[in-house]
Amino acid sequence: MAYVFRGVRDAAPVSPKCGTRAGYMEHIKFKTEKCQPCKDAHAAYKREYIRRPTMRIQCGTYAGYKRHKRADENPCEMCLRGYSKYMADYREKKQRATEPKPTAFEERIKRAAELFADGASQTEVVRTTGLCKETLRKYFPGQRWSFVEAGEYGAAVRYGAAA
Ligand SMILES: [Zn+2]
Ligand SMILES: [Zn+2]
Repeated sequence: MAYVFRGVRDAAPVSPKCGTRAGYMEHIKFKTEKCQPCKDAHAAYKREYIRRPTMRIQCGTYAGYKRHKRADENPCEMCLRGYSKYMADYREKKQRATEPKPTAFEERIKRAAELFADGASQTEVVRTTGLCKETLRKYFPGQRWSFVEAGEYGAAVRYGAAA
């Protein structure tokens, strides 16, 4: 059955906005029959609307992201940021776990060099870096260098450890 409503023209796209939600709204505003592209756009909008996120206390965290997924929602902005940060941290942690041990050691030596350059005592450096005095004596004989020399020494240690 075909009904003819007052104000209804045709079902072909009537505006450059057709195929968007704005086009759909124009059909309503100007009382023209909704064209198929606009109907599709509106259906897509409705689907997205159903999937809009519910804000929860966990939002912004990995747990919050998971809650959205479980509820078949699109994650909220906060959760998207939280999730990408979680993934970045995860990748970094994994990366660190696969790195060879000398790197961690090298980091401590570097830190020790910085501390000595700042005028820290051997005891302080031992406490901060966890390196034993024997190691420090070996790497920093005399530790009487200036700030610049300490930097050069640090570089020498880095190359030495990398070899
Ligand atoms: Zn349209
Ligand atoms: Zn969220």
